[in-house]
Amino acid sequence: MEFKYTEAQLLLQKMVREFAEKEVAPIADTLDKEHRFPLETFRKMAEIGITGIGIPVEYGGSGGGDIEKAIIVMEIAKKCAATATVLSVHTSFPQAILKFGTEAQKRKYLPMMAGGALCGFALTEANAGSDAGSLKTTAVFDEKTGEYVLNGTKIFITGGARVDAMVVIASTDPSKGSKGISAFILEKGTPGFSIGKVEDKMGIHASETVELVFEDCRIPKENLLGKEGKGFNIALAALDGGRIGIASQALGIAEGALEETIKYMHERTQFGKPLASFQGLQWYVAEMATKVEAARWLIFYAAYLKSTGGNFGKFAAMAKFNASTVAREVTSLAVQIHGGYGYMRDYPVERMYRDAKITEIYEGTSEVQKIVISRAILG
Ligand SMILES: Cc1cc2nc3c(=O)[nH]c(=O)nc-3n(C[C@H](O)[C@H](O)[C@H](O)COP(=O)(O)OP(=O)(O)OC[C@H]3O[C@@H](n4cnc5c(N)ncnc54)[C@H](O)[C@@H]3O)c2cc1C
Repeated sequence: MEFKYTEAQLLLQKMVREFAEKEVAPIADTLDKEHRFPLETFRKMAEIGITGIGIPVEYGGSGGGDIEKAIIVMEIAKKCAATATVLSVHTSFPQAILKFGTEAQKRKYLPMMAGGALCGFALTEANAGSDAGSLKTTAVFDEKTGEYVLNGTKIFITGGARVDAMVVIASTDPSKGSKGISAFILEKGTPGFSIGKVEDKMGIHASETVELVFEDCRIPKENLLGKEGKGFNIALAALDGGRIGIASQALGIAEGALEETIKYMHERTQFGKPLASFQGLQWYVAEMATKVEAARWLIFYAAYLKSTGGNFGKFAAMAKFNASTVAREVTSLAVQIHGGYGYMRDYPVERMYRDAKITEIYEGTSEVQKIVISRAILG
């Protein structure tokens, strides 16, 4: 048993940490205030190979696997949770193509994704959130043209208008329920596909969350991902893997908040002493740091199991449930330790507190994670 990063992982962590310090931290506050999508940062991430992590070198990627993906999302999330969300969703798409795609789909899409074409994942609908299998978007095959015709509306889709290609989950046979669901690759600019409402959110302002509208949107049959009727399994597999990404995002937010708090406790004095000298606050820090470390190792265990072909679903759900709870608790204590200043937008912990909440909701709520965990335990 070895609890340590490899040399290559340490180098990757150092490189992404420096990148986040230089390119992400200085603009995180502005992106949040202006609700500005981090497209330029994403392009810069592509230049140094971050967007290609998890994509094999033979398909134009940077190689690496789930642990490397966890490292990059964590480091970016420490400075900007919204940028980390975009990156986490982006890294999920190639995994679906790698696992379920044809060789032609891999050759076409993976080099694009590694090069910085942005990816998305569209599953959620107004009446199909946790109960994703009850989705209503349909994809009807047109024999004459050899295309699938999509109709319906997706909501809460990350990156929406900026996304270059996404996996869309739709029903090809509504009579079969979740067994009649299929997955498709949709490219930006496809006629019949448009952006609806842009959401105004509590946090991760810069990530752009939108409604997608499909009106007789035609997708060539070559863009069916996997087999017809197997789309629900593809969606569940993407969510299983994505949970490690969101857990990593949550951990990054918590670590970022802890770092800001430690700095502040040495700077701020009350009663003639730095905050760091008050035992009541020292104990908060001990609590925060312990939770952060425990979250880290559960995430890496899930990532390790996934990358070594183990049965990781239960651990991914545990890692996400735990890390998102930790992110909420640690950011709340961070605000508390900053006192009134922590409530002001001048300090990053205010943004981190708002950003942390989403990690308990998307990629499956905490309640859904507990369903997954308890099913794995109780059968
Ligand atoms: C900012 C943001 C970005 C998102 N990005 C994407 C994206 O890119 N792509 C995408 O497809 N989706 C995305 N989503 C959707 C997200 O995954 C869903 O919001 C989430 O799965 C919850 O679904 P819901 O909102 O419909 O809540 P509901 O399913 O209506 O849940 C409401 C409450 O009921 C609880 N609940 C539901 N069922 C059960 C049960 N069986 N037992 C106990 N409690 C239950 C839930 O835990 C929750 O507390 C995003 C959402 C947000 C807010």
